[in-house]
Amino acid sequence: MNERNDSAADRPIENLVIIGSGPAGWTAAIYAARAELRPLVFPGRAMGKDLLPGGQLMLTTEVENFPGFPEGINGPEMMQQFFAQAMRFDTRVVSDDGVKRGKDLSGGLFTPFQNVESVDLSRRPFQIKGDGGHECRAHAVVIATGAKARWLGQDNEQRLAQTGGGVSACAVCDGALPMFRDAELAVVGGGDSAIEEATYLTKFARKVYLIHRRDELRASKIMQERALQNPKIEVLWNTVVDEVLGDEKITGLKLKDTKSGKVRQMPIGGLFLAIGHTPITGFLNGQLATDEAGYIKLADPYRTTTSVEGVFAAGDVADHVYRQAITAAGMGCKAAIDAERWLAEKGLA
Ligand code: NAP
Repeated sequence: MNERNDSAADRPIENLVIIGSGPAGWTAAIYAARAELRPLVFPGRAMGKDLLPGGQLMLTTEVENFPGFPEGINGPEMMQQFFAQAMRFDTRVVSDDGVKRGKDLSGGLFTPFQNVESVDLSRRPFQIKGDGGHECRAHAVVIATGAKARWLGQDNEQRLAQTGGGVSACAVCDGALPMFRDAELAVVGGGDSAIEEATYLTKFARKVYLIHRRDELRASKIMQERALQNPKIEVLWNTVVDEVLGDEKITGLKLKDTKSGKVRQMPIGGLFLAIGHTPITGFLNGQLATDEAGYIKLADPYRTTTSVEGVFAAGDVADHVYRQAITAAGMGCKAAIDAERWLAEKGLA
């Protein structure tokens, strides 16, 4: 049965709305649904700018570090499983055809879902507006919109990243895959993540080139020293990637020297981007406290509470440190429990 809500006066009041559908969002949904809160999820729009149904794992190939999958599991397949588990209980999702339950959906995560266009956290119940016309109110909200890895933005980079062709934005997720063993790899970036990822990759790789656009690293001194002393890491200063080469798999890079403008080709067996992440918080329009980089600030580091009571944050949108599927799922669980307790305390559900 569809629950269509075209009139503003007729907007339903939800106990809990979950925005986002990566490991944090679906885990929050599983816990909230089992607590009989009947959560409503806005999974995001596949062709949208930001939220991707299933989150960043939809862009990964093999996931080998999520406990419970000893043989590893393909990222999109894992997210289908998270989704199916959430839908097995009383979770509802906002599709372009209105609010749906699991039994009404045949396309799984490939259903056209709605993204959230805006929220109004100044009124209670909170007001939430989807980009496909669904509007509702909610006593509590979990924000699990994640963070987007920044990419260079080149066509071949994107294509190879999506087809498992040896381009990745997460060395911890993908670095241990067999295709990178004993290979010569490249990491782009000059911050702590780039150093950390380059250092991590030396466990598997024969050699790691750290490609940085300036002649000075942004990373902390201690991290820099660690990398510069590692015999397997060579820094290519004042260098940018002009082109990613390869058809089925990456074969090399076209590099440009930013000082001389000279372009050269270098064979490479894998490329890892570590040029930062952007948390997906634009739709909040400044209504929640964030840090300078835009990550939601937790009111209490051990909880998922935010600067607005009744709004909880989970996963990468509130965590720039760990950024793992398992930590995001853990936070999603905490957010659902925090929301359930808060709703009970206020006598709202
Ligand atoms: P970051 O500090 O913002 O560094 C991004 C790096 O990517 C910079 O070196 C930047 O170059 C480069 N970059 C950005 N856009 C680029 C482009 N289009 N092409 C080429 N290079 C580009 O990001 P991060 O390293 O992910 O760190 C994020 C935060 O997490 C930081 O606060 C960091 O300290 C923290 N962190 C801490 C640890 C740790 O302590 N263990 C580990 C990871 C992250 P420029 O330097 O020229 O701007």
